[in-house]
Amino acid sequence: MGLFSNKDKPCPVCGKPTPRLLATKIQGEPICGDCAGQILADFDVQNNWAMNDLLEHLKYRAENKERVESFQPTRTVDCGHSLLIDDASRCFFLKKWTDNNPPIVSFDSITGFEVSMGWNVVEHWSKGIPRTPYQAPQLGVLGALGALSNALARDADKQQRSRSENLKITLQLNDPYLKKYELMDESVFGNGEFDFSRKLSVELARVNAVGDVVAAMTGSVSSSQASAAPSAEHTADDILKFKSLLDAGVITQAEFDAKKKQLLGI
Ligand SMILES: [Zn+2]
Repeated sequence: MGLFSNKDKPCPVCGKPTPRLLATKIQGEPICGDCAGQILADFDVQNNWAMNDLLEHLKYRAENKERVESFQPTRTVDCGHSLLIDDASRCFFLKKWTDNNPPIVSFDSITGFEVSMGWNVVEHWSKGIPRTPYQAPQLGVLGALGALSNALARDADKQQRSRSENLKITLQLNDPYLKKYELMDESVFGNGEFDFSRKLSVELARVNAVGDVVAAMTGSVSSSQASAAPSAEHTADDILKFKSLLDAGVITQAEFDAKKKQLLGI
């Protein structure tokens, strides 16, 4: 009692004792753990707050909680957690069981998003621009053939190395408190490159579907609309890849012909 809390320094918001150690401070004044726990704002925003800004933020947080409790979603999208969307009011929130007051985000505050894999940003999308979604590397196709061929199986050691990466969607917001908001965070684990690339394709499909949902919220064209026609360049690249596999003796002439017909849609 009194060892970890400080009755001489009551919380300026609610009057409760404040922690002696590691207290959240506003303008150098410690506030209590309960009040600090209500804050959901970027650190660089909090660091510039005066006490009035904190009070205003706590009021907004209390209102947000009421809105979450009375939220009427018009649809729900699976993004690892549930994304509860209200198309009538043009807003959504992410329902995590660990969070009883998730921020309600307005469609209109979304300015873009990033898809990252590990430390690498693999897609950067901005509102109003058609998406160019990140596609799984061609390794998936080569790996599938590799599993069938002795030539590539010589690489077995390398291919059996396990690999894991985190796939994330981080929203960029025009919001007074949060500039970024993590919408999706999925880990992909594979036993070897082939297994990894297969699972990556599955997760990327989910990430890209959620990305389309977000882009559509802002009124932007979705990737499926933007890329409805397969690019001729991409098809030619693929055929050349299979031609080199044919030349290397990895696939037969018949397999190559079949693949070529499929790619050309003839
Ligand atoms: Zn307090």
